[in-house]
Amino acid sequence: MATTARAAVQVADRTFEIREFDLPEISTDDALLRVDAGGLCGSDVEQYDGELASLGVTYPLIPGHEPLGTIVEIGEGAARRWGVEAGDRVAVEPVFGCGSCRTCLVGDYRRCRRAAPPGAIASAYGAIPLAIEPSLWGGFAEYLYLGPRTVLHKLGAGLPFELAALYQPMAAAIRWCAHDSGIKVGDTALILGAGQRGLCSVVAARAAGAENVIVTGLARDAHKLALARELGADATIVVDQEDMVAAVRDLTGGEGPDVTIDLTPVATQPIADAIEAAKPGGTIVLAGLKGSASTMPEFSPDRVVMKELTLKGVFAQDIRAFEPALRLIESRKYPLEKLHTHTFGLDDVALAIETLAGRVPGEDAVHVMLAPHGNGAVAGGA
Ligand SMILES: [Zn+2]
Ligand SMILES: [Zn+2]
Repeated sequence: MATTARAAVQVADRTFEIREFDLPEISTDDALLRVDAGGLCGSDVEQYDGELASLGVTYPLIPGHEPLGTIVEIGEGAARRWGVEAGDRVAVEPVFGCGSCRTCLVGDYRRCRRAAPPGAIASAYGAIPLAIEPSLWGGFAEYLYLGPRTVLHKLGAGLPFELAALYQPMAAAIRWCAHDSGIKVGDTALILGAGQRGLCSVVAARAAGAENVIVTGLARDAHKLALARELGADATIVVDQEDMVAAVRDLTGGEGPDVTIDLTPVATQPIADAIEAAKPGGTIVLAGLKGSASTMPEFSPDRVVMKELTLKGVFAQDIRAFEPALRLIESRKYPLEKLHTHTFGLDDVALAIETLAGRVPGEDAVHVMLAPHGNGAVAGGA
């Protein structure tokens, strides 16, 4: 067995260094994961660009919060509590709680404020500084240390990592678009944004019983909007070419959607449009982070009052969404494999992030995966 792990260490904005680390010693309550795959998402782009500094994320550290892999070593206590053993393939939840505070005990461990190791600001993989032992806290590495409070999910036999790597966007879609929106059988869902979470939201809305699913995107998202229709969207709207509010009215017989989910980054106009388009009594779920544009002069509180709308913010997800997400992916009911567009090795992590961000000309990325042991070494394929 290996005794060291190569890892992509972020040392500055948009700068990685490959470094080698000794593998940690595993005792009774922790484990070591061979990282076979890891999904990339919009927050990896923000972290790469240095935009998470305001949240207190500091360098150097190993990013990567969507790791999947194979347990190579596990303590007796951890094996008993997690119900897994060496050789099992698992998906790792990004956030872990302390397990003892009130927030954890009532089941909201993703909101726990006590679990961060001393010196770290967050109890989340990919956000813990290198200085905190045993350093291997991020998925952009050949091996990941699994601390005692980690939440794991066993992967079904034969599920390829390219598909399993969708567990986080799918869990987000299930929590935000299905659970938290209160969507019901027969409802109309309007999904603003056609990225990986928007596309997974089409599936989540369908699975929750939506009868009419509408997805918006930009003209440059044509490949994603086509995929949305393949996944079951009834209609798509190109917002930089069409009047979104008028188009939604046309598509819903003048009524508007019961549920709208905003997944668009930065822009606030989609929220104003969502308020305008919504059915009276409808719900609007706000999930897209707006960064520096996080105030909005076009917001009309009176429209929310008069239409009796519910506005709900959502952030991250937990076991209540991760479990059904993996079951849904494993069911193969939807052609989710079409979301996977790119796989990169560890040395190309910067290129992987640039590709996901749409900064590499000619590459139409939807879901990008990192395979730290190299493309050829991805185990468990279909
Ligand atoms: Zn993510
Ligand atoms: Zn806690």
